[in-house]
Amino acid sequence: MKEEVEIGAIEDQEAAPAGNNVVIPMSRRLVLTELTDRTCKWPIGDPMKEEFHFCGNDSPDTSPYCTFHAKLAYQPSGERRRAR
Ligand SMILES: [Zn+2]
Repeated sequence: MKEEVEIGAIEDQEAAPAGNNVVIPMSRRLVLTELTDRTCKWPIGDPMKEEFHFCGNDSPDTSPYCTFHAKLAYQPSGERRRAR
């Protein structure tokens, strides 16, 4: 319940145009042991490969992901709009 309220608040703040110019943040390439409560835990790459790492950007208080990846994570799966 609490989460829903907070997500709604975030969306309200985001007055940015819903274009396809989404900036992907540079990841800090953290490994699992480097993650903390304040780092984005979005996995990047193939877990079976050496290059696998986590985003590691700053995450807001209540989110396991940075703002960018939180958006991806909470995107309704029903919505499948494509640019082309
Ligand atoms: Zn992230």
